[in-house]
Amino acid sequence: MIRIEGLRFRYGEGDFQLRIPELLVEPGTTTAFIGPSGSGKTTLLNLIAGIIRPETGRVETRNVEVSALSDPERRRFRVTTVGLVFQEFELLEYLSVLDNILLPYRIHAALQLDATVRDRARALAERVGISDKLDRPPRRLSQGERQRVAVCRAVLTDPPLLLTDEPTGNLDPVNRERVLDILFDYVRESGTTLVSVTHDHEILARFGRVVDFRDFHSVGEAGVS
Ligand code: ADP
Ligand code: MG
Repeated sequence: MIRIEGLRFRYGEGDFQLRIPELLVEPGTTTAFIGPSGSGKTTLLNLIAGIIRPETGRVETRNVEVSALSDPERRRFRVTTVGLVFQEFELLEYLSVLDNILLPYRIHAALQLDATVRDRARALAERVGISDKLDRPPRRLSQGERQRVAVCRAVLTDPPLLLTDEPTGNLDPVNRERVLDILFDYVRESGTTLVSVTHDHEILARFGRVVDFRDFHSVGEAGVS
């Protein structure tokens, strides 16, 4: 599903450098990215999603070399292939909860918003327990509810790849388990590949594999795969 080779990435400013000689993620697996704050976990999700491009090396997702696509191609790739749950949820305050869930269909012509999609959005909302709040703005939701909106939005397109960035970081234990159950139930049913950043060691047992970003700071060429 994901194949990274010889990746190096730096932001325009600062000394941070991400170096990943090799990383493979098999289709249908669940992987946790762990590591200290600032070790590049969010950066790598953005590279995999094609939001940013590496300085050198390849990022291949679903046999597409994302790092070689043009900007419009990468945007198209992202909306059709990747479901993203961001660290800060990234819900839009001027849209209702329902329109936030439908957002991927509003921002890209590759996705066609029709009655089937609306029904699916409502069914997802029902399933995660927010169907009575679809007309509200996100600020009138609890953190746990907001995170569930973000999850609904990410899975609405039925993406083969789901990337989540500390999906339980801002949640109390009850909501944490609830959001994880929703995510892992979805993954099990759909066969989607899940890659999730987390600093929460209590949830690592749920994942098939754990990748520790401390390994990407050693200067040696030992690959992580
Ligand atoms: P993590 O998610 O593991 O906490 P990040 O990938 O967010 O780490 O960040 C890795 C490093 O890159 C940090 O040192 C951070 O300050 C820096 N960084 C993140 N985003 C940017 C940016 N847009 N511009 C410059 N530096 C950034
Ligand atoms: Mg981060």
